[in-house]
Amino acid sequence: MPDQIKVLPENLANKIAAGEVIERPASVVKELVENAIDAGGSRIAVEVKAGGKQLIRVMDNGRGMSREDAVLAFERHATSKIDNEDDLYRIGTFGFRGEALASIASVARVDLTTNTAEEAAGTRIRIDGGAAPRVTDAGRAEGTTISVSQLFYNVPARRKFLRTTGTETRHIVSVVSTTAMAYPEIAFSLTVDGRESLSLPAVSNTYVRAQTVMGNTLMNQMIPVTYDDELVKIHGFISRPDATRVSRTHQYLFINRRTVSSRALNHAVFEGYGSILPRERYPVSIIFLAVDLDQVDVNVHPAKREIRFSDESSVYKRLLQAVRLALQNSDVVPVFETDTPNISDMTPAAAPGNGNVPGPESTMERRTQIDLFGPARPGAGAAPGDWTYNPGDPVREGDDETRPGTVREDTHGEPVSLWQLHNAYIFAQVKDGFILIDQHGAHERVLFERALQTMDRESAPSQQLLFPVTMDLPVPQLALVQEHLDLFGRLGFNVKLFGERTIVVDAVPCAANKQGVDTLFQRMVENLQDLPARDLKAEERIARTFSSHAGIRKGDSLSQREMNTLVNDLFATETPYVTPGGRPIVVRMPLEEIERRFNRVP
Ligand code: ADP
Ligand code: MG
Repeated sequence: MPDQIKVLPENLANKIAAGEVIERPASVVKELVENAIDAGGSRIAVEVKAGGKQLIRVMDNGRGMSREDAVLAFERHATSKIDNEDDLYRIGTFGFRGEALASIASVARVDLTTNTAEEAAGTRIRIDGGAAPRVTDAGRAEGTTISVSQLFYNVPARRKFLRTTGTETRHIVSVVSTTAMAYPEIAFSLTVDGRESLSLPAVSNTYVRAQTVMGNTLMNQMIPVTYDDELVKIHGFISRPDATRVSRTHQYLFINRRTVSSRALNHAVFEGYGSILPRERYPVSIIFLAVDLDQVDVNVHPAKREIRFSDESSVYKRLLQAVRLALQNSDVVPVFETDTPNISDMTPAAAPGNGNVPGPESTMERRTQIDLFGPARPGAGAAPGDWTYNPGDPVREGDDETRPGTVREDTHGEPVSLWQLHNAYIFAQVKDGFILIDQHGAHERVLFERALQTMDRESAPSQQLLFPVTMDLPVPQLALVQEHLDLFGRLGFNVKLFGERTIVVDAVPCAANKQGVDTLFQRMVENLQDLPARDLKAEERIARTFSSHAGIRKGDSLSQREMNTLVNDLFATETPYVTPGGRPIVVRMPLEEIERRFNRVP
């Protein structure tokens, strides 16, 4: 057999490399913008036409290239960014492969002008699809402009796979805006088909940049994350638990200011929320990680979208911890205002603008904001027996002293007004809008956490039933009861087994709604049977079935005091936003949104 192996011509090798690095117009934008950042530019302007299919131009005011360098830059494996193998393990620039310009020039027409501070005449280089470069003089200031036109004109297969102009443009906008988030000190602009579509002036920090990129509305719903130790420095923003999304695509991750995708680290953020997130909801997160250069390997993926850590699990743990701390420390709970007028008080005379407006002092006095989530979370400290109240019963009187974590009374001795809507939801004014609380879900959350606490202790307060309830249970259910007899007992149910199939319940937890005690246990056992056993501990399953059947239901009418107690108790729980089963409890309507709906500019 004759020899068959031959070395591919350079031009063909470049095209093959281009296949990996240059997937679509947005990849060209990414490579060129990264080069501009590596060149130390403080101003980067991107211009595209027809989704980048017709033209991509990236202009920077960085250090530029000498004529010799500019010619060399289009050679494959030509780079100024690394010298030797050691450098490969300490990469502090975006580039290092020396592949992008060679690849781009092999599949498009490229026109580059560049100048350095030292050189008198600038350089212009034109290359058509990998043909020999034409070099001429060009007068220009320090910096570099690269225009890439007719992308893939000589690779019809690739050209065919390009999407619509709109789709390709969207990818480009996403590349520019995402990259820009990590470089607030650089001014970016993006012009799409002659119209400026992004204009990001240089700003002092990532938060301000994120506000311009992501919008104020979103950023107002974010809380800051910080963490710092010898392995990793973390800073960034995550959404409050009530401002989540239905998809995972809103997680932005930067490692040493490089955009990367990492399922593992996105998952760490998600896990950091614990059980706070409603089911199938995902956080928005913008996370910047900084690690020593030798802790990461960026040479994993040709387009450098992925990255390898020498110790990923430690980074994972720290990120998870950072998110958890951020959520714990932040005031994720609404701030209530005490100046909520009672509807009955809203006489025309009291309405603002009627000449009867209280002076600033009295306004100040009345506007005591209530911190429902004071430093001490009751819950743990609440005395047993303190967690009982039933609709219709007098609720915990006598606790008049104002402590953090309670709805205080305002200066007129009136409790903060809460309104019940349709005997199902509680309406409350908060500092920046209003919230609606699902009363059944709220009580479910309260009962759930307390049930877990009581089962953890020895015994719970229980109430003796005047008429013990006797039930015949099917064998599988009976087996369940037997299995969990001890836990039921600790929760406050006194259950006795009689004969083969029969149980008698003669005491129930005080917290249980007195109506329907007879069916409560039955429902719990059925529900227990339905709950998938996986993942959930027995205590949790019992707490869940108990809390969903024992408390306030939809349709129960609540007094002002009951509502106050419920709302206080809810926000003293660890996770006031979702029921144990994952339904939302609190819906928030920000003032901004209300004003928007009334066509008012906030
Ligand atoms: P890499 O970025 O991996 O080094 P590229 O093909 O992207 O490879 O670029 C090759 C070289 O061209 C770079 O190392 C750099 O020296 C030079 N270069 C590219 N773009 C610019 C620019 N905008 N300003 C200054 N120099 C640049
Ligand atoms: Mg590069």
